[in-house]
Amino acid sequence: MKILVFGQIRDNAIEENVLGILNKLSEVFADSEISLALLANQINNDWVEELGKHGAKKVYTVEASELENYLSYPYVKSMLEIIEKTEPSLVLAAGTVFGEDLIPRLAVHHGISCAQRIVDISLDIDNILFHTPVRDDQAMRVTKLVGAIKFATTRTGAFFINENPSGKSPEVEKVEVTFEAEDMLVKHIEIKKAERTVNLKDAKLIVAGGRGVGGKDNFQILKDLATLLNGEIGATRACTDLHWIEETYEIGQTGQSVSPDIYIAAGISGAPQHLSGVKAKTLISINKDEGAPIFNYSDYGIVGDLHEILPILKKKLE
Ligand SMILES: Cc1cc2nc3c(=O)[nH]c(=O)nc-3n(C[C@H](O)[C@H](O)[C@H](O)COP(=O)(O)OP(=O)(O)OC[C@H]3O[C@@H](n4cnc5c(N)ncnc54)[C@H](O)[C@@H]3O)c2cc1C
Repeated sequence: MKILVFGQIRDNAIEENVLGILNKLSEVFADSEISLALLANQINNDWVEELGKHGAKKVYTVEASELENYLSYPYVKSMLEIIEKTEPSLVLAAGTVFGEDLIPRLAVHHGISCAQRIVDISLDIDNILFHTPVRDDQAMRVTKLVGAIKFATTRTGAFFINENPSGKSPEVEKVEVTFEAEDMLVKHIEIKKAERTVNLKDAKLIVAGGRGVGGKDNFQILKDLATLLNGEIGATRACTDLHWIEETYEIGQTGQSVSPDIYIAAGISGAPQHLSGVKAKTLISINKDEGAPIFNYSDYGIVGDLHEILPILKKKLE
């Protein structure tokens, strides 16, 4: 099977969700030809090498000044040319703002539907199955798509990124695309970055607090622990709704998706809307209610009052 992935660039590097997709595809479709589409003003060879390490066998590049910033028309046109040339059975993009713009347009161009924000992909004999959480993440919808090409986006943070990738340099093929004035009707003016200081997405360790933390000032101990462990703090929506902490720290369905190595959940009940944003290698929870649902998802659970346990932990670490 031939698979094509949109190799989104962010801040002059490969968007890391793309690497997660590659790792997942290499696992599920080990015998398939996994290719990447790299569209940019100028292709950086480091991007190509990184993609190869993570499992890309081939990289199709389109280099043009029109592709300096994401714009729907030139990007769709370039992708369509690559799709026509490579005839993939599956086309995937990370469900970023750009991926969510691109994939439905490509699907509509082919007169078919697409799957969006999938969290898993599997094979059932010859059928590709797309797994999408529904009903506030309390159930999973498994979909088969019609059409010769299946289009899908993945939920950001859904797949782990292999820390020791060992793939080889991929083959590179340049694709020429000519852009007309009508492809450039929409102009890029500027990118204004939101003033955001927290990047939970890249954090390797997160100490997250829930309503059980009990108040704004009580977040200090979580901050101290996070600093000692070289991590970040996070929170549930209950805390951001109560203005105990800024919204940028919210994790979950309406907050950020995170995939740290260690997630310490203090005073968090384990609502599906919160846990849907957490894909941790190790989940440690502290809750005074031994029946709290979070314990069902935890690798380690401490039943007790977080106001007693966190200071002990802090002292030990110091
Ligand atoms: C459409 C929708 C989207 C949502 N999106 C999100 C989202 O993105 N992120 C999110 O987090 N939520 C989201 N929610 C809200 C979600 O459903 C839960 O209400 C929320 O996650 C609960 O937060 P919590 O665990 O902090 O609070 P609670 O559910 O109130 O749990 C508090 C826990 O703390 C424990 N506790 C209390 N005191 C202590 C103590 N001293 N020591 C130890 N443990 C203690 C309690 O036993 C309890 O288990 C969403 C809801 C909806 C409807």
